Amino acid sequence: MSLREYEHKRRRSRTPEPFGGAREDDERLRFVVQRHAARRFHYDFRLERDGALASWAVPKGIPLRRGERHLAVHVEDHPLEYADFEGTIPAGEYGAGTVEIWDRGTYDLLEEKRNGGLTVRLHGERLDGVWTLVPAHLDGDPKNWLLLRKEGDGSTPTTTYSPMLSTASESLPPGAGWVYEPKWDGFRALVTVSGGEVALTSRNGNDLTERFASVGHAARRAIRSADTVLDGEICALDPQGRSRFGLLQEGTGTLVLVLFDVLEIDSEPVLALPLSERRRRLEAIVDAAIGGVAVSPQFEDGDALLAAAREQGLEGVVAKRSDSRYQPGRRGPDWRKLKVRGRQEVVVAGYTHG
Ligand code: MN
Repeated sequence: MSLREYEHKRRRSRTPEPFGGAREDDERLRFVVQRHAARRFHYDFRLERDGALASWAVPKGIPLRRGERHLAVHVEDHPLEYADFEGTIPAGEYGAGTVEIWDRGTYDLLEEKRNGGLTVRLHGERLDGVWTLVPAHLDGDPKNWLLLRKEGDGSTPTTTYSPMLSTASESLPPGAGWVYEPKWDGFRALVTVSGGEVALTSRNGNDLTERFASVGHAARRAIRSADTVLDGEICALDPQGRSRFGLLQEGTGTLVLVLFDVLEIDSEPVLALPLSERRRRLEAIVDAAIGGVAVSPQFEDGDALLAAAREQGLEGVVAKRSDSRYQPGRRGPDWRKLKVRGRQEVVVAGYTHG
């Protein structure tokens, strides 16, 4: 393993990235997956090998479903210290953009083929299982490998969800254990990220992906999971930051995806978790610094939000039981909507232009 190519591509004085050296005395082999918001968005998959990190750039993220395979472009070895690197590589430098650690841990080498192919068992926080790297020479290029999730018993089927619905209510629910959100005045949308590709689906199952392509692009950058299902609303803002349904229909206004729930993370369903925990996980996977995507604000004081809604002309308030599970397609008592007016202008509370 040589770091010559790595060092050649980078300027020590300009980039915060590490430049090799020390080997820690830990005999367990390390792996890391970094989310790299470079000009070409990708994930970097790195395995400790012979004192350096063998590295592959994976545009669609690590395949999570059994039998799934993604292109993995073999790139130069990186120093071991890179496994701890997070930060921003300045504009103009090689790989300019933000690097975040998406997962890390240790791995066991299960098999090494003579052609270079590797089978590894990863022990990470998100990744736990067996993956294989195949030097597949896709399009005749020796750099183009395949990363595949090994077959196993019970492959994960892709589930199609419908959004959970709320029951109309005349007053705020009494008692504790409720949280309150503004009622958004746009298009309800389920956001499905699969292999890093984003699809937007309306409440009735219509595909909104092409119509709101810019929203999909923003979501791809903002969401820190290559395989996830989220619930939210596509809103159009006027110059004052008010969400207006009319602007959506006209195709004008600034589009914002306001997210308020999560159904799956890294292909694992989280519907059975209480709303408070889903909400915590939602906030953790959305990069609030990326424009065009926001997490809906949530309030504990329903009376105050209702008063603000009346004052500011919000469409209404949605009350949600904080221990409720997500029930796709159900209109149950756990989510309740209180309308304070008909559909027109809405101030997007908590959202500021980035
Ligand atoms: Mn990279």
